[in-house]
Amino acid sequence: MDYRRGVVTGESVWRAIVLYGANSATYKFAFGTTLLEIAATGRDHVTLDELAPRYAELLCQALQRQPRQGTAARSRFLDACRAFNVGDLDRDTLHRRTVQLGFGNVIDAFPQLRGGQAPVRYYEDRRRNSTLPGLVIRDELHRLARSVHARDLDAETTARWRLVETAWTTGVSGALLVPSLVYDPGTRDLVLHTRQRRRSVTGVAAALSGYQDGRCAYCDRLMARDAAGGPVVEHVLPWKLKRLPIRHWNGPDVDTVWNLALSCTSCNQAKQDRAPHETWMPWLERRNNDLIESRHPLREVLMSQTGDTEAARHATLKSAYQRATELLPAVWTPPARVPTA
Ligand SMILES: [Zn+2]
Repeated sequence: MDYRRGVVTGESVWRAIVLYGANSATYKFAFGTTLLEIAATGRDHVTLDELAPRYAELLCQALQRQPRQGTAARSRFLDACRAFNVGDLDRDTLHRRTVQLGFGNVIDAFPQLRGGQAPVRYYEDRRRNSTLPGLVIRDELHRLARSVHARDLDAETTARWRLVETAWTTGVSGALLVPSLVYDPGTRDLVLHTRQRRRSVTGVAAALSGYQDGRCAYCDRLMARDAAGGPVVEHVLPWKLKRLPIRHWNGPDVDTVWNLALSCTSCNQAKQDRAPHETWMPWLERRNNDLIESRHPLREVLMSQTGDTEAARHATLKSAYQRATELLPAVWTPPARVPTA
């Protein structure tokens, strides 16, 4: 249902920018969050002076969380944020520096996807306009900010940000460590395991929802409208495999990201401890390839667990499915997909 499968909507393109756009710094995430907040107020024009406080605040907070927010050796803008964090720079100076240095190429780069300009434009760059310089916010962005997806988009951006900065900080992107992202059902978080440590990265629902366009993995209904409070984190191949009396399961850990998806509450309740019918499984294979395409650290994690190539991953998934349904033969047939607006 996403833009990459040919459906161009304001939401699907925004998600593609956040999940699949190039990452050399995390400015994009701060900029996207700031834009959505401004658009939610209904304004149709904004200056860099007006964007700067919130944009800088998000990056200052991020630097306190993780020192690495870009791949470049130095950034004068991030240095200004660091100086503000330790009290060496006052707020007004930080905002002036943000206007001078902070927007660099993020305004041009934000709407870029690999392969060129995104097919939806959210704003027009009028920085050089002499009478009213700044950005013109287009209707597409207003609509997005008011849509049922808005809160999800914000959470998804934050989750993606945490994953990217975690990869840079732990060196996962250098593939020196074999990492693992394991689901913790107590906190509903993805926990990064490396040889050195174990650390909660982000909520699993926010990390995965963008790859499903906010829709149930099985029935395709929008999870934001789930009256029972979905989404629910699903083990596609049942979690019970890990807990069989005699440990027969020899596939990859079912608690890790390759086997996790989000569903609505009614599909979750109907599925119980069963694998989905095998005709559904290409969905998971395709979704895992999407996770790989969005790179650090998901690429490294998925490849280490399920294989380096699409063919290898297909074989891994196929044998995992066969083994799972030998051990737990009952399968569940998901309902027909009923997309809702
Ligand atoms: Zn469902």
